[in-house]
Amino acid sequence: MQMSYLSFTIHVIEGYISSIYLVEYDDSMLLLDSGCVNDVKRIEEYCKQVINRPPGDIKLAVVSHMHPDHAGGAAALRSKYGIPIVAHKDVDLWYSGLGGSLQHKLDCYMAMSVARTNKRNRERILFNPIIHPDILLNDLQVLPFFEDWAVLHTPGHTLHDIVLYHHQEALLYIGDIICDVKGKMLLPLPVLFPTLMENSYDKLSALNSSTILMAHGGAKHTGNVPSLFMAMKEQLKQPPTPFMRKIHRWSTFTPEVKRQGM
Ligand SMILES: [Zn+2]
Repeated sequence: MQMSYLSFTIHVIEGYISSIYLVEYDDSMLLLDSGCVNDVKRIEEYCKQVINRPPGDIKLAVVSHMHPDHAGGAAALRSKYGIPIVAHKDVDLWYSGLGGSLQHKLDCYMAMSVARTNKRNRERILFNPIIHPDILLNDLQVLPFFEDWAVLHTPGHTLHDIVLYHHQEALLYIGDIICDVKGKMLLPLPVLFPTLMENSYDKLSALNSSTILMAHGGAKHTGNVPSLFMAMKEQLKQPPTPFMRKIHRWSTFTPEVKRQGM
């Protein structure tokens, strides 16, 4: 699927687990998350067959957060094509140390079970848990090389989630901040830091956006994006289901949970 805007076209590539957004400009391309490590071949095929451009025209790969279906392909794309990686400055703390290493394995296992539920064939998704971004991002910076995109730090799902905001086109790439599951707009799993998540929803609802690009559920065009974020805030107040509690229990091994004082 493609969406045309004034200065770029957005291509939606269906990855192994998530939707991957490739923003095509006249002279370069910007990758909004790189999918799982096995999505590198899907990105390559899409570039060659649909856009008719070499993958090396991608000038920047953004990692919204470290989960396997978002960060998995980035390092492989960098080593194959020299594409620099940008991510929040704390991204490599997530899977650091023994706890982080265990969390990484659990997250890959959970991603595999999502793929199984989606009736995907079994493919390898283990990736290097430490990514060493080439450029580290802070809240309210603009993207290097693509200064029309602003970076917002939106912790809650992890401690280092970022979203990208294109003011001129009222576009927001939100990664896992909201997940569309069979037409229902749901919280990501897990929400490890609910108070931070609430603040992140407030921050996003204050933006003037009319299209949100989700990693799970595609693009959503709506006249009232703030009400969507407010509805997510309401969901935060609901008691978690047993499944949500289980995912939460399996997600607290990262040293970042301790750093946040939980
Ligand atoms: Zn995630």
